[in-house]
Amino acid sequence: MKIVVLKFGGTSVGSISRIKNVARIIISHIKKKYKVIVISSAMSGETNKLSNLTKEISSNFTPPEYDSVLAAGEQISCSLIAGRLNDEGFLSRSFHGWQVPIYTSGEYSHSRIVSVNKNNIIKYLKKGGIPILAGFQGINSENRITTIGRGGSDSSAIMIAKFFKAEKCIIYTDVAGVYSSDPKLIPNAKKIKKISYEEMLEMSSLGAKVMQPHSIQDARLHRIDIEVRSSFNNKTGSLITKRKNVSTKNIIRGVSFTKNDAKISLIGVKDKPGVAAAIFEPLYKNSINVDMVVQNISSNKKETDLTFTIKTEDLTKTVKLIKNNKNIKFKNIIIDEKVSKVSIVGVGMITTPGVTFRMFNALAKKNVNILVISTSEIKISVLVDRKNLKKAVDVLHKEFKLDY
Ligand code: ADP
Ligand code: ASP
Ligand code: MG
Repeated sequence: MKIVVLKFGGTSVGSISRIKNVARIIISHIKKKYKVIVISSAMSGETNKLSNLTKEISSNFTPPEYDSVLAAGEQISCSLIAGRLNDEGFLSRSFHGWQVPIYTSGEYSHSRIVSVNKNNIIKYLKKGGIPILAGFQGINSENRITTIGRGGSDSSAIMIAKFFKAEKCIIYTDVAGVYSSDPKLIPNAKKIKKISYEEMLEMSSLGAKVMQPHSIQDARLHRIDIEVRSSFNNKTGSLITKRKNVSTKNIIRGVSFTKNDAKISLIGVKDKPGVAAAIFEPLYKNSINVDMVVQNISSNKKETDLTFTIKTEDLTKTVKLIKNNKNIKFKNIIIDEKVSKVSIVGVGMITTPGVTFRMFNALAKKNVNILVISTSEIKISVLVDRKNLKKAVDVLHKEFKLDY
C-alpha cells in the first residue's frame, strides 16, 4: 500500500473555506493513487480558548480533565474535513485517539505516542476510505484521554508515518516551508530547501514554531523524512532529513528567537559549594526547566550574583519556590520578563572558527547589549532586551548572509 500522511495545522483548517481547500489537497493526493491518512490540528485559536475555559472555572483543574477538554478542538476539525470529503463523494470519517487507538505514556499534557493499533485504519483504507485522525491526542494505560504537548499534531503525524511505513509525510502549514528565520518577523528570510534533523531540532527548540521539537526527535529517531509546505499555495516546500543528504556549505542555517523567557537574578548569594544546587533543587522537583545560567565572579569571595532564565509561564511558581527556600540566602531578587533569547544555529560552526566573535561583534555594532550567553556544539544563544529583538535577529541574519 502506497501511503502518504498529510498533516494540517490550525490555520490550514482555520475556517470553512480553508477546510474546503484542505479537502481539495487531500483529493489531489488520492488522484495520484495514494492511500491517504490525514492528521488534523484544531481550528486555530480553539485550543487556547479551551485552555482558558478550564482556567476560568477552576484554578486547579485536574490534569486528566484538562487533557480531555484540550483534545476537543481536534475532534471538530476532523469531522468537518470528513464531512466535506463526503460531500465531494468520497468515503471518509474521523478517528479520535481512542478510536484508533493511539497509545501514549508519560504525564498528562506532555505524553508521548508509544504505539498505534493499525487494524481499524488499515481496514478502512482497504475499503477505499480516507481516515481523518485527530492529532495531539491519545489514550493512556488507564484508558483516559491524553495530549502530547502544544503543537503536538506534528508529532502525531510523524508517529503515524512511522507505524504505517508511509512513503511520505507532508506537514501543511501557513508558510511555504522552514525559513532561515521566522518570515513573519524577517520578511527577507530565505526558504531552506533541505535541513538536517539536528539543525531543525535546535531551531525549533529555540523558538521556530513551524515544527514541534518532539516531532523532530521522533523523526530523527525513526528516520522519517518530512516535507513542510504551505496549504495556501503550491510552492515547493522544505525537506527535513538526515545530515548526509544536506549540503554543509552554510556556516549558519538560521536564526531562531523566543518571546516567552523570563530572567531571574539573585543578588548577594553566599559563594560556597552547594549553593547553586540548593537553588535549583526545588525547581527541578517541580519540573521547572532552567535554561541559561550565569554566575558572576565574586568580588569579595563571600557573595556572588546568580542569574538564570525560565519560561515566563513558570515565573510565579519559581519566585514562590525561591522565596520559600530555607536552604538559601540572598539580598535581593530581580525579575525581568521583557527579555528574548536569540540563537544562531548551524552544523558549520563546529568546523569554522570565529563564529562567536562575528555574532558578538555584529550585535555590539548595533548597540545590542548581551545579558546572558549559552552555547552548544551547533548553536550560540544570547539573551537580549525584548526591545532589541528585531534589531538583533536582523543584524545576525545579515551577518551570516542569510538574507534573501
Ligand atoms: P501550524 O498551525 O500549521 O502548526 P504553527 O503556527 O505552529 O503552524 O507554525 C507555523 C509558524 O511558524 C509560521 O506562521 C511562522 O510564523 C512560524 N515560524 C517561526 N520560525 C519559523 C521558521 N524558521 N520557518 C518557518 N516558520 C517559522
Ligand atoms: N491544537 C494543538 C495546539 O494548539 C495541537 C496542534 O496544533 O498541533 O497546541
Ligand atoms: Mg504547529
